[in-house]
Amino acid sequence: MSSIAVNRSTSLKPRPSDDQLQFGTVFTDHMFVMDYSEGKGWHDPRVQPYQPFAMDPATAVLHYAQAVFDGCKAYRGGDGVIRFFRAEKHAERLNQSCERLCIPQLDPAMILESFQALVKVDQDWVPRKRGTSLYLRPTVIAAEPFLGVRPAKSYLYFLILSPVGPYYAEGINPVKILATDTYVRAVKGGTGAVKTAGNYAASIYAAEEAKHQGYTQVLWLDGVEHKYLDEVGTMNIMVKIGDEVITPPLSGSILPGVTRDSILSLCRDWGLKASERQISIDEVVAAARGGTLAEMWGTGTAAVVSPVGELGYKGEKIIINQGKTGPLTQKLYDAIVAIQYGETNDAKGWMSVLR
Ligand SMILES: *Cc1c(COP(=O)(O)O)cnc(C)c1O
Repeated sequence: MSSIAVNRSTSLKPRPSDDQLQFGTVFTDHMFVMDYSEGKGWHDPRVQPYQPFAMDPATAVLHYAQAVFDGCKAYRGGDGVIRFFRAEKHAERLNQSCERLCIPQLDPAMILESFQALVKVDQDWVPRKRGTSLYLRPTVIAAEPFLGVRPAKSYLYFLILSPVGPYYAEGINPVKILATDTYVRAVKGGTGAVKTAGNYAASIYAAEEAKHQGYTQVLWLDGVEHKYLDEVGTMNIMVKIGDEVITPPLSGSILPGVTRDSILSLCRDWGLKASERQISIDEVVAAARGGTLAEMWGTGTAAVVSPVGELGYKGEKIIINQGKTGPLTQKLYDAIVAIQYGETNDAKGWMSVLR
């Protein structure tokens, strides 16, 4: 593996206080960059001052969205130790996204090295207050200047870091979501299972419509029958009906969330029945009418879990658990957060320490 050159910034930015942090608005002093060109492969890994890219207007990514990314977090525990949550899993997924977009994969060890090297240089930016964290955004884009639809011959990998506040300023708060039977996010055979830029561009219109109707997120139904639950916003979706936790299976149209995987694993450890199976919106509505729809929540890196207090569908409003965070949702949140801040035994080996 080639060694990483480090060029430190000579003028450091002012850092916001932990209480002011939001999501994705401030970035640290440095960035990690690595180039790919045909014949040479991935080369010149380096840490350099955070700065804009100069780009030819014909650069392929700007026109045809040959771009993938991932998102994971580093946490500073009460013991002062900085830990990454399931970094290997995120590196692996970035490579899966690359494969689907015909982008040459990276050495997974180099992806992890980039996390280590950049967070090491910018470690003072990892906030201290419990609930805050450092968000890592590894990204790969087509860098070749040309017009035409084919894989580019050159690429750029970059990693940027953003200190982020707690997703919920005053404890976890239920959201209102709207199931849409007009728009779809993904279909089997499409790109719904990978983190590629175009998926998000295509989702904004439906999200805006939902916002105008007073909802925070869209509940995406399957792309063929508009019947089965897929995802909620940019999170995986889970429902608890009676004693069963149900989440849609990884059948090609949903993102294989790392949080989803972690939560399924905890549920099974706790002896709960956790099913990965198709679940229709009609089954959810029927359970709500029958009084067995206990809880519903989204899962993702940003929020860990996001309880759903209200579901809108075909003009009807379904209130879940009286609009409050359910006990299992809260228990899952507490368990994962305790692992992330190094407060409980990391029995599953999910955390890796900043060296
Ligand atoms: C990132 C993402 C998720 C959640 O994945 P995590 O690995 O848990 O953060 C779910 N759905 C979509 C569409 C996403 O982009």
